[in-house]
Amino acid sequence: MATKIGFLGLGIMGTAMSRNCLKAGYDVMVWNRSKEPVAALAAAGARVAATPAEAAAYGEVVIVMLTGPEACQAVLFGPHGAAESLGPGKVVVNMSTISPAYARQAAAGVRATGADYLDAPVSGSKKPAEEGTLVILAGGEEATITAVEPVLLAMGKKVARCGEAGMGSTMKITVNVLLGALAEGLAETVRLGEALGISRDALLDVILAGPMANELYRLKAPMLRSDTYPPQFPAKHMAKDLRFAKEAAAAAGAVAPTLAVLTALYDKLVDTGLGDADFASVIKALA
Ligand code: NAP
Repeated sequence: MATKIGFLGLGIMGTAMSRNCLKAGYDVMVWNRSKEPVAALAAAGARVAATPAEAAAYGEVVIVMLTGPEACQAVLFGPHGAAESLGPGKVVVNMSTISPAYARQAAAGVRATGADYLDAPVSGSKKPAEEGTLVILAGGEEATITAVEPVLLAMGKKVARCGEAGMGSTMKITVNVLLGALAEGLAETVRLGEALGISRDALLDVILAGPMANELYRLKAPMLRSDTYPPQFPAKHMAKDLRFAKEAAAAAGAVAPTLAVLTALYDKLVDTGLGDADFASVIKALA
């Protein structure tokens, strides 16, 4: 269907994802609040918008990849926001990780303009974003998902259909509980090993050689070995996602005892100034 994309948000993920839209042959107009990330996309062939409203006027598909609900609210519905240019025939694809409640609120706000809305957060971090191998968790009308699927597959390898708008976000925050727990489990095991006299390298070698090895641990082990945590998925985003999951669990009356502990640990990480570090730095919250 559409060939014109308005792309709002050029952070770690949005930069890589908008680049893949360009590579796939789409005409892309980008907007970002701060101007530094824009130049690289312009050099790669993107048009540059002065406001979210300008990018949304250009795009038949308007992709949003921002921090969370506050940023989405400002960029979609604030002054010069995308909503000023939305109307029938346009689709907003919100790929940010937001709470399910806010996803439903944003869907209603966008649909009130006559445009359609999908929530489509992603599973996968900086590297899959660069390689175009994200798993996209889509919520919305089936026909709308089908219509924008070619655009989504420019950024990802799979589109999982999760149900109505809001269910993509529900899937995302649920999956991220496991992600946060896996990273914390590895960190806690390494800390315990060290307390018992096992070197970090020796312990990681054993874990990675056995049945507990997985892609995530292979990706994070070099960070733990060097004790440096360049951001792929910043800790502040993990803390945010766990808060959304905790709220959703409470509202549903779900039993999730580890979630409370995880939320406290990742919040502590942010409080100690490591919010911009990769979430594998959760080992520092165990110090
Ligand atoms: P990021 O690098 O921190 O980028 C955040 C983006 O949001 C930037 O473009 C930033 O603009 C913009 N922004 C923040 N507050 C804003 C506001 N009030 N008004 C306008 N723009 C605002 O984040 P990211 O890692 O790309 O992640 C983006 C989303 O994807 C998040 O929801 C995150 O949870 C999710 N996610 C991330 C990963 C990952 O591994 N990184 C993986 C899966 C999902 P400025 O440049 O001006 O600050």
